[in-house]
Amino acid sequence: MARYTDAVCRLCRREGQKLFLKGDRCYTDKCAADRRPYPPGQHGQGRSKTSEYGLQLREKQKAKRYYGILESQFRGYFDMASKRKGKTGENLLAILESRLDNTIYRLGFAMSRAEARQLVLHGHFLVNGRKVNIPSFLVKPGMIISLRDKSRHLDKLKMVIEANSSRQPPGWLDYDANSLIAKVSSMPTREDIDFPIEEQLIVELYSK
Ligand code: SF4
Repeated sequence: MARYTDAVCRLCRREGQKLFLKGDRCYTDKCAADRRPYPPGQHGQGRSKTSEYGLQLREKQKAKRYYGILESQFRGYFDMASKRKGKTGENLLAILESRLDNTIYRLGFAMSRAEARQLVLHGHFLVNGRKVNIPSFLVKPGMIISLRDKSRHLDKLKMVIEANSSRQPPGWLDYDANSLIAKVSSMPTREDIDFPIEEQLIVELYSK
């Protein structure tokens, strides 16, 4: 499975926004986007982005990087979104949001989406009682997500769950923190996505 392996803080600085790709560090004063709030590289402080195409491209790159997805898969999600009823941009965000790795992150089982992806790959989670180790698996309303019995005793996971205990899962997930079981109650809606993104710009970019 291809994935981005370069320094991730550069991505936040390039997008001019914190994308929360590094877990704990993102909430400390070590955050590179806070310390150096300008694009990376020799000409970072001299660049400006003004063209319409530039704005659309940046918005698409921001969404890809936020969810940790490469171009071909992102394009596939766009095609899937455009075939669904409703607004393509909102459909696209709902699809991205309902990936299993994002769902695990939203539930507070991981400090970042990258960490959630690793946990899913290592088979720590069940969907409807069966192990699913595919980060791109799309959850649907009615599905039950739980932590595998063996994994409940892992110190690292226990620490992360404790650290995230005050984090509120989004409205489309019914989560019971005692049993560590969640039910997908509905598809994510636009209001559930608190990340500042102008999805219409992505639609315009791909519709050229
Ligand atoms: Fe982005 Fe987190 Fe790095 Fe800050 S610490 S630049 S939010 S990945």
